[in-house]
Amino acid sequence: MKKGLILATAFLFTMVLFMGSSVTETQAKTTFVTIGTGGITGVYYPTGGAIAKIVNKKRKEYGIRCTVESTGGSVFNINAIMAGDLEFGVAQSDRQYQATKGLADWKDRGPQKDLRAVFSIHAETVDLIAAVDANINSLADLKGKRVSIGNFGAGFRQNAIDALKANGLDYEKDFHAESLKAAEQPGLIQDGRIDAAFYTVGHPSGYYKEATAGTRKVKFVPIGNTDSLIAKYPYYAKAATLMKNYPGAANTEDSIPTFGVKATFVTSAKVPDKVVYAIVKEVFDNFEDFAKLHPAYAGLTKEAMLTGLSAPIHPGAMKYYKEVGLK
Ligand code: GLU
Repeated sequence: MKKGLILATAFLFTMVLFMGSSVTETQAKTTFVTIGTGGITGVYYPTGGAIAKIVNKKRKEYGIRCTVESTGGSVFNINAIMAGDLEFGVAQSDRQYQATKGLADWKDRGPQKDLRAVFSIHAETVDLIAAVDANINSLADLKGKRVSIGNFGAGFRQNAIDALKANGLDYEKDFHAESLKAAEQPGLIQDGRIDAAFYTVGHPSGYYKEATAGTRKVKFVPIGNTDSLIAKYPYYAKAATLMKNYPGAANTEDSIPTFGVKATFVTSAKVPDKVVYAIVKEVFDNFEDFAKLHPAYAGLTKEAMLTGLSAPIHPGAMKYYKEVGLK
């Protein structure tokens, strides 16, 4: 009888120890999440870094460790999130819309039903830069030139194609089109390998600082005939690129007319609510600090961060927005 009691007590004691240790293990378990961005001279890469920095400060509280990956851009990020290779990514608002509805790059694969919006961030403009010696003053002057319209995973590739089409140009016929990654383009203009290149990015960016700092003088080329694009596509808006950010550019104008989109933060329906909630809470609760992390966030407001989203908002994000009265 006594022996039985001792055994039972020992058993209970072991159970308590076992349960105790399993709780500690659960708490110490780290959830690793990766944010897909873009080329390292763009604004997505530092944006991923800014989000990761804010979230990783609370690593002990949430058990979340955020890392950032440089990628081919918006289309790559959305596809990698859908494949489960990335948990989060930065993507252009037009790409979020197209993926959600099964358009453009997603025409064959159909609507990406698990794509979820988290928030939007800075504005991006669609720009064309050209070497001054190539005499390109409008899109029509691209005829016969060597022009990079961007790699296949890039968000800006379709912006370039749309801008060209609105100006009566077909990249497959009218010039020598290259499919280069953004980060490679400035160097290849300097080397004389290409004459001009498109890119869609927030400002100021390291990309355009680099592109306008070389010995081969470079200028921004206005993108005209955007009215038809804006009328046709709900995600495009008129925009202007301010030259004060790039004193090295050969332009004399203060701003260059063009059209633009927004950078947005996206995820998958498969990413747990508590992970998305934690990231949204940290970015929004520390909004003042976040907004200081990149000059492209100047003028950003919490309310504006909930616009430009076309995929359903992830429930983890929605929980926070409802708690603070943003939704
Ligand atoms: N908008 C670009 C793209 O998706 C990336 C811009 C950036 O990296 O800041 O291709």
